[in-house]
Amino acid sequence: MSEENKEPEKETEPETTPPSEEFSDILTVPKPEGRRKCPKCGEVLKHMIHESVDKGVIVLDYPRIWGKKYKCGKCGCEWREK
Ligand SMILES: [Zn+2]
Repeated sequence: MSEENKEPEKETEPETTPPSEEFSDILTVPKPEGRRKCPKCGEVLKHMIHESVDKGVIVLDYPRIWGKKYKCGKCGCEWREK
């Protein structure tokens, strides 16, 4: 038996991963007058709707203020308000 000195083949994956476009498939809804509600499932419970900074939207250049986006903890839908 001959022992082959074989190195494990490394698969070189071409880096064709597109830049994350997490802002592109986000819903935009008109600012609600009353309570905030999930545009998808209609969730209105405040603790189910998570607010976060949306760096895809710049509200003010200086001082830098970004927009806000919301995520429903129930269905996972993300949206921003106009
Ligand atoms: Zn929802």
